[in-house]
Amino acid sequence: MRQDQVCDAHPELIRAARNIGSPATIACPICAEPELRLVTYVFGPRLPAHGRCVSTADELAKLDARPDELTAYVVEACVGCRWHHLLRVLPVGRRTAPVRATS
Ligand SMILES: [Zn+2]
Repeated sequence: MRQDQVCDAHPELIRAARNIGSPATIACPICAEPELRLVTYVFGPRLPAHGRCVSTADELAKLDARPDELTAYVVEACVGCRWHHLLRVLPVGRRTAPVRATS
């Protein structure tokens, strides 16, 4: 695969990666620079069509507490060469009332 085919991250994604992305533990596989960041986007009802960019664990926990069925996409993005890759997809939300012991 040619580099210009995989290094086409949207400027918004790169901006998010630079500003709020959490550092990845590995270097970029394309340019080998330690510029790789992880960015999490959550999609679902009552969220923007392009997804909500989540920057803190607290924010994610709040979304996770929603009754809606949401999906989080964790994307690796390189600030150096704009390579990006969908790392994982996680179910978020759809919480029912907390289960408590009633003894
Ligand atoms: Zn790179």
